[in-house]
Amino acid sequence: MSRLDTHNPDLQRLARPQVRQLASYNAGLSAETVRERYGLQRVAKLGSNENPLGPAPAVSTAMAQACAQVALYPDANCGLLRQALAKKLQVPTDHLVFGNGSEDLLSIISRVFLDHGDEVVTVVPSFGLHFIYPIAAGAQVIGVPMRADGSFDVPAMLAALSSKTRLLMFSCPSNPVGTTLNAAELGQLLAALPADCLLVFDEAYYEYAQHEADYPDCLGIIQASGKPFVLLRTFSKAYALAGLRIGYGIVSDPLLADLIDRLRTPFNINRVAQAAALAALADEAHLNRGLAHVASERTRMAQALAQLEVHAVPSHANFLYFATPFEAEALNLALLAEGVIVKPWREARYTRYLRVSIGSVEDNDLFLAALAKVLATEHKRTSG
Ligand SMILES: *Cc1c(COP(=O)(O)O)cnc(C)c1O
Repeated sequence: MSRLDTHNPDLQRLARPQVRQLASYNAGLSAETVRERYGLQRVAKLGSNENPLGPAPAVSTAMAQACAQVALYPDANCGLLRQALAKKLQVPTDHLVFGNGSEDLLSIISRVFLDHGDEVVTVVPSFGLHFIYPIAAGAQVIGVPMRADGSFDVPAMLAALSSKTRLLMFSCPSNPVGTTLNAAELGQLLAALPADCLLVFDEAYYEYAQHEADYPDCLGIIQASGKPFVLLRTFSKAYALAGLRIGYGIVSDPLLADLIDRLRTPFNINRVAQAAALAALADEAHLNRGLAHVASERTRMAQALAQLEVHAVPSHANFLYFATPFEAEALNLALLAEGVIVKPWREARYTRYLRVSIGSVEDNDLFLAALAKVLATEHKRTSG
């Protein structure tokens, strides 16, 4: 509930009904806020799936050069980056769209393709914006629960599709669960997708999953299906550019790119971000160092959690998702006091789940020690 809801119903009525009923996005606290609020020196920020290695070294040089030209508007077409990505992904240059973060594209897509009375099918637990933007556009979102083991319930997703479904939208690897579809499941979904339904395949964590033996070539499979799609990726996670806000989408047809471009702000990708993304894309060795770090630390953290009787869902992304016997919000507050930021889940039925990002070795250690401490405290409190 925002302050408007409680104190000033008249002001609240100024907003459209779809906006009045929305919950605010839970963006978490900054490290500065936590340091200040709890009087701490050291804070482990493990709530937003950021990359602890930072961007490739060439990024700062590229940014400095771009900074010298900030008096000029950026290239509205993201020309150089578009060419580099098209080459890397083997897609035509007019099959790409760019967003101020891929969340910008989620917002634009919702406004371009959704109208009142339309339906969107997604999964729960979910990435919050897969609900917020469609609802704001007047659509109804149907959240299909993941199975108890964290896997996608493909038959239930198929059953949720109706003649009103305009978008099938979910993340794979799943945020927050970390699980993925296999090739057969993706094929089933594509085969059942109605012709007037757009697949929005949010692959924000693609880079972390791409080399896993059981992770299919989702882009290739989706392209081969001939179905209309937007596949979203981002420079925020594996490329470590979250602070610059740049993501992109690959579309099945240039007309989809044209439709999306009609509602984006013309200069939505700033000059510095375009230069940084181009430099980040060029350094595969740096990218791979980050992926190797996440893979080894994820294994170590899952094992350490298991020793605390906490069993994380096997993850192909740079985070782990797990339940404890306690309410996540209470654990979250106790962890904040220890200088550890994680993401407590707030969706109904998942309020005992937390998501922790794979950070630096030191931050991960701080988290593990803090979690052991707060779990012991909670166990003592509830048994005494
Ligand atoms: C982080 C994330 C995004 C948003 O990424 P930005 O490019 O930073 O906006 C989109 N989808 C999912 C599932 C994410 O986890």
